[in-house]
Amino acid sequence: MTETVDRLPVDRGLVEAAATLEPEAAAARHAELSEILHRASRLYYEQDAPELADAEYDALMRELVALETAFPALITPESPSQRVGSAPGGTFSEVRHSRPMLSLGNAFSHDELRAFDARVRRGLGFAPAPEPAPDLRYVAELKIDGLAVSLRYERGRFVRGATRGDGTTGEDVTANLRTISVIPGRLREPVTADVRGEVFMPKAEFARINEEREAAGLPLYANPRNSGAGSLRQLDPNVTASRKLAAWFYQLLEEGGGAQATLSLEAGEADSASPGVMTQAGALDRLATLGLPVNPERATALDIDGVIAFAERWRDARHHLPYETDGVVVKVDRFEQQERLGMVSRAPRWAIAYKFPPEQVETVVEDIVPYVGRTGTLTPVAHLRPVKVAGSTVARATLHNLDEVRRKDVRIGDSVILQKAGDVIPEVVRSIPEKRTGIEREFEMPEACPVCGTVVVRDEGAVRHYCPNSACPARVAQEFGHFAGRGGMDIDGAGWHVLEQLLQRGLVKTRGDFYRLSVEDLEGLDRFARKSAENLHAAIQRSRRRPLERLIAALGIPQVGWTTAIELARWLAGEVPAGDGWLRRAAEHLEHVASRDPARFEEVEGIGPTVSSALATWFGEAGPGRGVLEDLADAGVDVELPAPRARAVSTGPLAGKTVVVTGTIEGFSREQAEAAVRAAGGKPAGSVSKKTDYVVAGPGAGSKLARAQELGVPVLDGEGFRRLLGGEPPGA
Ligand code: NAD
Repeated sequence: MTETVDRLPVDRGLVEAAATLEPEAAAARHAELSEILHRASRLYYEQDAPELADAEYDALMRELVALETAFPALITPESPSQRVGSAPGGTFSEVRHSRPMLSLGNAFSHDELRAFDARVRRGLGFAPAPEPAPDLRYVAELKIDGLAVSLRYERGRFVRGATRGDGTTGEDVTANLRTISVIPGRLREPVTADVRGEVFMPKAEFARINEEREAAGLPLYANPRNSGAGSLRQLDPNVTASRKLAAWFYQLLEEGGGAQATLSLEAGEADSASPGVMTQAGALDRLATLGLPVNPERATALDIDGVIAFAERWRDARHHLPYETDGVVVKVDRFEQQERLGMVSRAPRWAIAYKFPPEQVETVVEDIVPYVGRTGTLTPVAHLRPVKVAGSTVARATLHNLDEVRRKDVRIGDSVILQKAGDVIPEVVRSIPEKRTGIEREFEMPEACPVCGTVVVRDEGAVRHYCPNSACPARVAQEFGHFAGRGGMDIDGAGWHVLEQLLQRGLVKTRGDFYRLSVEDLEGLDRFARKSAENLHAAIQRSRRRPLERLIAALGIPQVGWTTAIELARWLAGEVPAGDGWLRRAAEHLEHVASRDPARFEEVEGIGPTVSSALATWFGEAGPGRGVLEDLADAGVDVELPAPRARAVSTGPLAGKTVVVTGTIEGFSREQAEAAVRAAGGKPAGSVSKKTDYVVAGPGAGSKLARAQELGVPVLDGEGFRRLLGGEPPGA
C-alpha cells in the first residue's frame, strides 16, 4: 500500500524496511542505487539502448524513493528521484521548453490507484471514497510507450519540435519530426500553441526494422520504444523518414485566449482558465479539431472504479492494438482542480501513470536447436511447449547465442519465464532452477555445422559461432530466400517450398539463375500446374528491373540494411554515369573502390568504418560482390537509378555543407567542433572527398589536410571556422 509524504508515491513496506538500516548503510545503498539508475537513464534516454528491463528500473527507483523517505537527508537535486529524463547529449541543438515537461508518478496496482484517488480527494477537500465527489472526474488515456515531444505551432504552422530532454531543455528534432506523416505542417486554425504528445513506432514497423537489422548483422532494438526513440533522434532526417513513426498528442498549451491544459504548470502558478477549453477531455477534442492525431481509446470516468475498469479492459486487449501501450495515464479532468493540486517533486499531483504488469508466462523448453542463418551464424532457438502470451501462441524463442544461453542458465527440459519484447518478439526471460528434476541437459554448440558438416568456428573474442562454408546449403538457401523475398527483389510466389525445390534440383545455383528459369522448368515443380508456373515466371520477369536500393538490399551484404542500401544507392548513382551496361560498370567501380580506396565508402551518408570495411570485403577482389552483380547483369537484370541524394532539411550558416575537422582546433574538442557544425546545419564527415565543402585544420592535421589540398577543398583555421559558424565569410 502506498501513501504520500508529499513526494512521489512510496511503498510503505519498503520504507519500513529502509528505516531499519543504519544511516551509513542507507547512504551506501542510496549511492549504489543512484549510480545504477543514472547509468540506466543515460543508456535509456541518450543511447536508446537500455540494459535494464523497465520493471527492474521501476523497482530500483521505488527502493531509492523509500530510502529517501526514511532518510530525507539523502535527497539532493542530483538524485534520480528528482530528475526528469536526461539532459540533451550535445548532438542536437537545444530548445528550452516554454514550460517544463514533467514526468508522472507511477502506480502498479489497483490499491495504488485508490491511494492516488484518496490524495486527490484530500487535496481538493472532498470526502474519501466511497462518498460521492460529484465535481471530480478523471480522464483515462492509454499510456503510449514512446518518446515525449513538444511541438511549437505559430499562427498554425509547425515551426519547431523538441524532445523532453531533462524536462527544461530538450533536443531540437524539428527536421526529423517533419518527416512523420501524421504530424501536420499546418493546423486547421491559425493558432499559436505548444502541443505535446508521444512519438512512437507501430509494432509492425518495429518487427520489420528488427528483421532488417538482424539480416544486416546489426544489434537488435529491445522494443518499439527504443526503436522509435532511436529513429527520431537520428542525425539524418532521411533515416527517420525511412521508418514509419506515428504520434498521438495529449496536451495543448494554446496562446491568446485559447485552451490551456496545464500538465506542466509549476506548483502554485495559476493560469487563468481560458474560455472554451476547461478540461482535459475538452483539450483532447480541441487537439483533434486542430488536425492533430489524438488516440481514440480514452474515457471519462466519474470515479476511480471507472478508471480501474478502463485499465482492466485494456490489460489484455492492448495486445491487439497496432502500437504499444504500457499502462493508463489518469488525469483529473478539470484544469481548475489541476491547478489547485499543483505538483510535487518532478510530477503533477493531479495525474498518475498506472503501469500494466509485464505479461509473463511459464512454459517448458523442450529442446534447443541451432539454426544456420544467412551469414552462417548458428543461432540456438528454444523449442517451447506452446503457450499463450500477449495475445498469441508461442512455440519458439531465439536464445541469440551460446553466451546468452549460459547467462540465462537455460537448459533443455527447464521451466522458463517467457515474455514478448515490445509485445512482439518472444523472449525467454530466465529459467526457474527451483523446478529442475535432474533430467535437464545443458545445451552445447555442435562442433560441426548441422547442415553441411563443416567445422564450426568462433572467432577470438566474438560471441557468435558460425559455419564458415559460404556454399553451405543452409546459408545459400537463406541468402537466396532473402534475395527473392519481400526485403529483396520481391518475387511474388517464390516461397520456401518453391525455393527448396529449385535449389535441390539444381535449377538455381546463382542469383542470376532465377532469371534464367523457363515456364517449363517451373512446371516440373511439385504441385505446379501450367498456370502457376506461368504466374511465377511472370512475377520473376516483373522483378527484373527494380530500384537500385532494392537490389542492394537483396544482395544481403553483411551490415547493410535497408537504410544503408538507400544511401549507398544514391551515392553509387552519383559515381557511375547512367547509361547502357550500368550494372556491369557499377560492379567494376565497386571493386575498384573496395580494393584501392575503401575509406571512400565512408563518403556515403551514415556509413562508418564498420560498414565500410564490410563493403570493402564483399566487393573486394576476394569477395563475391563483382561476380554476383555481373551474373545478374548477364541474366538481364537491370536497375532504376535513384535521384542524387537530397540534402538534409536544415537551416543555419552551414546548411547543406559538409565539413571535415582535423588536428587540434583551439577552444573545441573534436566532439564540440562537430557538434558546432551540426548546430549550424552542416554535416561533419570523417574523410575528405570532392564533396567536402570545408576542411577545418589545426596543429597535428595530417593526411586529411594533404588530401584537401590535393582536391582543392578550402582549408580553414580555427578563426576561419568561428567566422563561418557565425555566418560570416570564413576568409574575412
Ligand atoms: P513514465 O514513463 O513513467 O511516464 C511519464 C511519461 O509518459 C510522460 O512524460 C509522457 O511522455 C508519457 N505519456 C505517454 N502517454 C501519455 C498520456 N496519454 N498522457 C501523458 N503522458 C503520457 O515516466 P518517464 O519519466 O518518462 O520515464 C520513466 C520510465 O522510463 C520508468 O518508469 C521506466 O519504465 C523507463 N526507464 C527505463 C530505464 C531502463 O533502463 N529500462 C531507464 C530509465 C527510464
